[in-house]
Amino acid sequence: MTTTIISHRQRGECPSLSKPMPTGDGLLARINPMNGAISPADLAGVAEAAKRCGNGLLEVTLRGSLQIRGLRDETVADMNAAVEALGLTIRTGLPLDTAPLAGLCADERADPRPLADAIKSQASSFASQLGPKVSIVVDGGGPSMLHGVKADIRLTALNADTWQVAIAGDAETARFVGVYDAERAVQSAVALLRTIAEGGRKMRGRDLLPTFETLQPPAQPRDPEPAQLHPGDILQLTDGRIAAVIAMPFGTVTAKTLIALCADLQILGIRGLRLSPERMLIMLCPDHAVAQAALHRSAGLDVITRPDDLRLRIVACAGAPACASAHLNTHALAAELAAKSANGQDLPFRLHLSGCEKECSKPAGTFISVIGIPGSRKIVANGIVLPPDFSDRLMAQTPMQRAS
Ligand code: SF4
Repeated sequence: MTTTIISHRQRGECPSLSKPMPTGDGLLARINPMNGAISPADLAGVAEAAKRCGNGLLEVTLRGSLQIRGLRDETVADMNAAVEALGLTIRTGLPLDTAPLAGLCADERADPRPLADAIKSQASSFASQLGPKVSIVVDGGGPSMLHGVKADIRLTALNADTWQVAIAGDAETARFVGVYDAERAVQSAVALLRTIAEGGRKMRGRDLLPTFETLQPPAQPRDPEPAQLHPGDILQLTDGRIAAVIAMPFGTVTAKTLIALCADLQILGIRGLRLSPERMLIMLCPDHAVAQAALHRSAGLDVITRPDDLRLRIVACAGAPACASAHLNTHALAAELAAKSANGQDLPFRLHLSGCEKECSKPAGTFISVIGIPGSRKIVANGIVLPPDFSDRLMAQTPMQRAS
């Protein structure tokens, strides 16, 4: 595989194994297995290669991608070869997300995969004209974990036969375009994509917002309340398997932890995993007892296995020293805040820690941001009144840690 390093001027592009991106701790490569599906053996293989070729840190992102950090010019080819040797089925072409458990959940309103396939197929003739970040979400409902995932175009099942089409946002913020049956929803999505493609590689779904300014969604709920997955959940799937859910603290996991986890899962007879949005990993277990054993084994590692783990309240970008742009050691601050918070009362809000004002990992919904700025940091309350001493307590707890 030929490798191209993404320059700073090309940062609009997404880093992949063939196009790693320079960051503060070396090169960053992103892998998107098809539908997030990967076996424990293959994930262990990726982690082994990441340990050898990178700095031993991997991430599961808010969109459910797998990232390898700290690669070097001289190790990228080795990393590529290792992943190629595993024979993973990697998503190519249009970035199109369906839920990690699409087609496997009893309470899914409709199977999104046929629509996703149809959109990919019908857009294939002009997909190369789209900018690299143009993305689509097809959400069939159920525990999709896609509500917070932003997309240029999003299709959401309102019931088994009806789909809502919206543009430029997550489930809360995307602007309503129309409600259609499956076939017309696909046609609408493809037509929107074609318009974006015709506008050139800089055009995004948000550029179409004025066109739909006056449209109002019908009286029915525009996007039904989502079912959520949480770490520690055990879920019966329609194919007889049982899903057990864990999450990575602040999205990061060491190769060592991942290798140990995957070894345990293979011993338990688990053959399938799904990388999931919201930095989660779903273990597909043959039965309930195995699911419980998988959670029990995971609890002994540095991953999140309980829904009340306070680390879930904190979203942190890579920060210093991983990212060269950072003015804040986000992960150290996040770990310290979670450790010092005895319970939810001490950490009553969702917290977003950002190494700089770019806010790469800004979550959807309501939160407070602590943003690193040169020589200091600022706290931004997203419409929430801070407790009077919150800022002082936060500042007092941890001295600002900057990249050395
Ligand atoms: S928000 Fe800033 S510090 Fe954090 S990962 Fe993005 S560029 Fe780096």
